[in-house]
Amino acid sequence: MNLNTPIENIHKIGPKYAKRLHKLGIKEVKDLLFHFPTRWEDYSNVVPIKDIKLGEQITVQGRVRHLDQRNTYTRGLKIVEAYIEDETDVVKAIWFNQSYLMEALSTKNPVMLSGKVALDKDGLYLKNPIYEIKNLGEKAVHTGRLISIYPETAGVTSRWMRYIISNLMLLTDEIQDSLPKGLLERKKLMTIQTALREIHFPSSIKNAERARSRFIFTEIFNVQLAALKTKYELRKSKSPKIKTDIALIKKFVDSLPFQLTDSQKKASWQILKDMERSFPMNRLLEGDVGSGKTIVAAIAALNTINTGYQTALMAPTEILAEQHYATITSLLGNSKFQLLNSKKTPNYKSLQPKAYNLKPNIALYTRSHRKINSDQKTKLPKEKIKEKIIKGDIDFIIGTHTLAQEKVKFNKLGLVILDEQHRFGVAQRAALVKKNLATATAPVAAKDAGQATAPVAGKDAGQAPNTYPDTRTKLSAGHSNLKPIPHLLSMTATPIPRSLALTVYGDLDISLLREMPKGRKKIITKIVPPKKRNEAYGFIKNELDKGRQAFVVFPLVEESRILELKSAKAEYEKLKEGPFKKYKVGLLHGRMKGKEKEEVMARMKEGKIQILISTSVVEVGIDIPNATIMMVDGADRFGLAQLHQFRGRVGRSKHQSYAFLLTDSSSGSVLRRLKAIEKTQSGFELAQYDLKMRGAGDMYGVRQSGMPDLVMQNLTNIELIENAREEATKLLETDLTLQKYPLLKKEIEEIQKIMHFE
Ligand code: ADP
Ligand code: MG
Repeated sequence: MNLNTPIENIHKIGPKYAKRLHKLGIKEVKDLLFHFPTRWEDYSNVVPIKDIKLGEQITVQGRVRHLDQRNTYTRGLKIVEAYIEDETDVVKAIWFNQSYLMEALSTKNPVMLSGKVALDKDGLYLKNPIYEIKNLGEKAVHTGRLISIYPETAGVTSRWMRYIISNLMLLTDEIQDSLPKGLLERKKLMTIQTALREIHFPSSIKNAERARSRFIFTEIFNVQLAALKTKYELRKSKSPKIKTDIALIKKFVDSLPFQLTDSQKKASWQILKDMERSFPMNRLLEGDVGSGKTIVAAIAALNTINTGYQTALMAPTEILAEQHYATITSLLGNSKFQLLNSKKTPNYKSLQPKAYNLKPNIALYTRSHRKINSDQKTKLPKEKIKEKIIKGDIDFIIGTHTLAQEKVKFNKLGLVILDEQHRFGVAQRAALVKKNLATATAPVAAKDAGQATAPVAGKDAGQAPNTYPDTRTKLSAGHSNLKPIPHLLSMTATPIPRSLALTVYGDLDISLLREMPKGRKKIITKIVPPKKRNEAYGFIKNELDKGRQAFVVFPLVEESRILELKSAKAEYEKLKEGPFKKYKVGLLHGRMKGKEKEEVMARMKEGKIQILISTSVVEVGIDIPNATIMMVDGADRFGLAQLHQFRGRVGRSKHQSYAFLLTDSSSGSVLRRLKAIEKTQSGFELAQYDLKMRGAGDMYGVRQSGMPDLVMQNLTNIELIENAREEATKLLETDLTLQKYPLLKKEIEEIQKIMHFE
């Protein structure tokens, strides 16, 4: 038997248990050793029977003197009763409904019983104690010591687990420590052998905890190492160097009707600096809804286009793509600001700012809409646009994932922008990465990009790492190191606490938009108890009468599709026939097809719907400035981050906006949670609160990300995460390929696979 022996081959594990263990993901001996207890109980206090005291948790050792089974009359339970005797005294022990003990305890060998001392009319006794038969020379596994309690699973008891694992402990000698010695010493971590022994069969609680923290550290360290390795590997790839034209950017910024916030300036600067380098930018622009991410993206695009490279922006839905198209054309194509196109006048530096006078060509490319800003038509043939893109006649292409799906090929793609990247969904991102859809023509390197200083070739450099969320490889031929990979800017409105970002997006650089543009009105947020529901409806009607629009979101409790549809429709009918009879009411739910959803959103945007009844699908970053009320029914069923996203649908105009959170819950903790959102407008504060209270599982699809449990459980521990990251950086600085640490390398590659959805 060795570490990789299938569990079926372990003595005492039959098919029935094997199946149960498989459910826990346990397949080999090694998995059993790494199946950790959740806690330990202390039965190390072995006392003479005469000294036992009421309420104490103790172990006694003696021989069974009397064994009997009887029925209780009142509750229909079977009771096994035993008397245990040592040199000092006798004590009674009883068990409920465990008839098998009649056989197990008929032994001449000494037995040990661990449990709490109770009292009945006959005196002190032990109730449901853990028992163990002492065979000569064997060490106790279940009693007289600290014992491990494993996660509860149907059909697999802690006792059974302890027994099986105790028989495997010798094999721990075969396990090699993946952590470097120096690191173990520096961090005062237990070796893997000691840690495995102490976590399953601890010698003290302190040591058990130390063992656990060694495993937590290992997991977090590995994740950090994987992220950083991915990040550094990307530096071996080559990207076009996009030189920042400060005069141009300045002119553009001056043309805006508002001043950039400090965060916007800083983020823009970070992005521009990244893109001047010869390896791909991999940056996440994180900013609350309405913080002004689009403008930052536009600055990056402008500079890219100015250097003669193309920009592609992908949005998760058609309607968002259209919205971006409208914004971008008015920003970059407006008359106050017109752009130099350096393809035609390459020597832009010699020109005065005034000479920026050429318009970029901007295209919209989605399933249902294809436009170019220089053309009036709204449904150009696909082939026509594709051809223009490939010829380089289009500078900025805005679309949905169809861009990747339909293998749109580019001429010189310099920058890919992914809006609301988390909305693409794990599966979709996986598809984008896996299928390597648009293997476009290799962007012909621009002169200055051609001489990138990236270390070319070399075994490791031969393959461009498939960095998640590496949509850009779909949009370029980026699989060979010799062909440039476009820079990637991901954007998200989901506020991610730093500890989480370092873990889930550990391979990305992050720019934060911390503050909102000046002069934004606060969205007045109110918790609404049931008795004020009608008052809230009245308030909404009043707003609608003033010409505003409203959203009503309600949660779905039903699991089945049919019921879900029914409940969505019922809610809609109820409001349409009831309080909002006089108004134009729309319905949006998850069972609608993508296209139907978009049509509804479009009608809302055009003002043809006054009040939109919706399930949580309304969350996507749509901009409807005229909507001023967001009412969430059953608000207690949503996470704070999600409620905050809902709220972000309103408050986008000069009109005062409102969020009403309806709940019939009177639970203190629920109301405290909702009060948090009533009090703050900051998505970051709320995300932090959510992470603390509910864990990361509900947030951002982290659960699907395949992160190990120990990492998930410690996501709020920023100190530990930063610590591990520091150590990971140190290690990679000395050995980027992990050549000296083959074991670690193997583990890291597994994690990288999970992170990249391979
Ligand atoms: P989001 O970060 O949610 O994508 P947008 O980029 O859509 O936000 O910006 C929201 C609104 O704020 C837009 O109408 C935009 O023109 C405006 N805006 C962006 N930056 C500023 C600023 N610095 N000052 C004032 N308004 C701004
Ligand atoms: Mg946006």
